[in-house]
Amino acid sequence: MNIILFGPPGSGKGTQSAELVKSLGMRQVSTGDLFREAIKNKTAVGVRAKEYMDKGNLVPDGIVLEMVEENLSKSATNFILDGFPRNLEQAAALDALLNRMNISIDKAIFLEVDKKDLIRRLVGRRVCSQCGNVYHVDYKPCRKDSTCDSCGGAVVQRTDDTEEVVVSRLGVYEQYTSPLRDYYKRVGKYNEVNGNRSPHDVFEDIKKLM
Ligand code: AMP
Repeated sequence: MNIILFGPPGSGKGTQSAELVKSLGMRQVSTGDLFREAIKNKTAVGVRAKEYMDKGNLVPDGIVLEMVEENLSKSATNFILDGFPRNLEQAAALDALLNRMNISIDKAIFLEVDKKDLIRRLVGRRVCSQCGNVYHVDYKPCRKDSTCDSCGGAVVQRTDDTEEVVVSRLGVYEQYTSPLRDYYKRVGKYNEVNGNRSPHDVFEDIKKLM
């Protein structure tokens, strides 16, 4: 099954994708992760993308689409698109790409989370710079200060998880990404999961949809 997991920043797309990878053997295609990897490796795409990411803006569609196409050309079965598409133009370009590849999306799953919780989730989020494990200063602190419980790597705040950038990312989401809900309703692929619950409960609902 091929799915799109979408929702506002902080709605749990990354957490739920990791569960789907672990328990159903799916492949996660996270455009945010791909950009962070490119930034780490100081590639030309990484340098370009960083300018936009640091301000909470969307990276231009051309760069995103090229990266997604390259990634899907490696393997395009049983995948989760996490953080892509992020606007109507990307959704249309994805349809065209999948058409050319003779494959399709089975479901678009929207994670609904109350707006007031998103800022708290994002600003308190910390990630391991080595293995990517996700923590939260209040809900899931590391056992040892700023050290990853699983790999011992340094646990840091993403540069775009500061309050100022988070507010900008939520505005960008409202303006550009939220119209995708109607887009996927129109094509009969829209599904909604209440993301205001524990990751375990949210995952149970996602599994039922799969
Ligand atoms: P994420 O990890 O999904 O929260 O994405 C982090 C940042 O990467 C976003 O705020 C954007 O700047 C950029 N980004 C990720 N995916 C996309 C996309 N599909 N289109 C444009 N920019 C993206």
